Amino acid sequence: MHEMSICESIVSVIERQAVAQSFSRVNLVRLEIGPLAGVELQALRFSFDVVTRGGIAENARLEVIEMPVAGWCMPCAKPVTVAERYDPCPDCGSYQIQITGGEELRIKDMEVD
Ligand SMILES: [Zn+2]
Repeated sequence: MHEMSICESIVSVIERQAVAQSFSRVNLVRLEIGPLAGVELQALRFSFDVVTRGGIAENARLEVIEMPVAGWCMPCAKPVTVAERYDPCPDCGSYQIQITGGEELRIKDMEVD
């Protein structure tokens, strides 16, 4: 399950931040996740609970901000956002969209003590 290794890297980022900014408790972690990141949210939440156990982020809430798929519509010649990879352009209905984003998986911010 690759969600487990994702959470392990999230926790190591948090622990490095904790040393750098000298906080000792994490209450909330906010993640931005694109639909193309290939992350199963339920598995991610489960893994997060397991990986944070006994550490600085134990019992921290995990808040997920689901990002849209960003693309470039060729007929419109402008950036557009769609819900899924193969959705048509919301403006012209074309499927000639080049995907430019949606694979995000990053910590947006945290609430700490
Ligand atoms: Zn378009």
